[in-house]
Amino acid sequence: MDVLLVGSIAYDSVTSPVGQVERALGGSATYGGLASSFHAARLGLGKVGLVGVVGEDFSDADRQILASHGTDVSGIETAPGETFRWEGAYQGSMAEAETHATYLNVFEHFQPKVPEHARTPKVTFCANLHPALQASVLDQTTPQRLSMLDSMNLWINIAREPLLEVMQRVDLIIINDGEVRMLADDENLIRASHTVREMTSASTLIVKRGEHGVLAFHGEDIIALPAFPTADVCDPTGCGDTFAGTLAAYIASGEGPLQRNELRTALVAATVSASFTLQSFGVKALQGMSPGAFDERMHQFEGILS
Ligand code: AMP
Repeated sequence: MDVLLVGSIAYDSVTSPVGQVERALGGSATYGGLASSFHAARLGLGKVGLVGVVGEDFSDADRQILASHGTDVSGIETAPGETFRWEGAYQGSMAEAETHATYLNVFEHFQPKVPEHARTPKVTFCANLHPALQASVLDQTTPQRLSMLDSMNLWINIAREPLLEVMQRVDLIIINDGEVRMLADDENLIRASHTVREMTSASTLIVKRGEHGVLAFHGEDIIALPAFPTADVCDPTGCGDTFAGTLAAYIASGEGPLQRNELRTALVAATVSASFTLQSFGVKALQGMSPGAFDERMHQFEGILS
């Protein structure tokens, strides 16, 4: 097992200035897992394992989507009740999702169980989820290279202490600029990033800045990258998860302490992958990303960066 990923599997209803979608397959584990397994296959890695829960309403077709690229779905349990649901909307520049409703459903009583064979992955990735559930997965795994986590404003608001505790336990934190400002209670992004680094024991902090790209603090190094320039923006849901899932696969492909150049390459690939997710509602564009289309856009992005 190269990447072990825990997160939400959801039915999302999303409205953006371009249109809307009802009950589309989504969730942090879905986007993260699809991105991670796509890159694991491209990079010749072993399996990506998913841990999560779905309800009795979860369709076989959606289960098939999760299992694409040979993903190990034995850690996904089906519980009595309905699948987790999220309703959100984007306006204007679509920089941030407005959450309209969250229905925890089967998540309410979820206790993650990492299958025996998945307990020593190369990378443990706790995608956005309640911090207590992220902590439970960290308890059950011994990552061979690195552990990483993503989070969201909801947990900063309602579970700040458990979030700060779990942030002490990972090597890499990936989070939005708005969330960094919230955590540090400081509008100055650089100062806030330094404060968040001091609040945690992570050696790498990756700050996602939406259309403004990404800022990574790694040891003494700082890496800044723009977003892939695109006018084709339909629905940003899952961009952060796609970004993080890509990063997890790239990190799982290396050995030893994470090097700056390796991190930069991973960030470039993560940026390009996220630009696919943007182009459709739900996972359609991410699912349709072919190795050829990805390589072509990587080449284009490297040209922009040079
Ligand atoms: P992103 O746009 O990458 O930040 O993530 C969007 C995904 O997060 C959506 O597909 C939602 O289903 C999922 N999501 C929204 N709220 C939560 C939550 N409270 N816990 C876990 N996942 C969530």
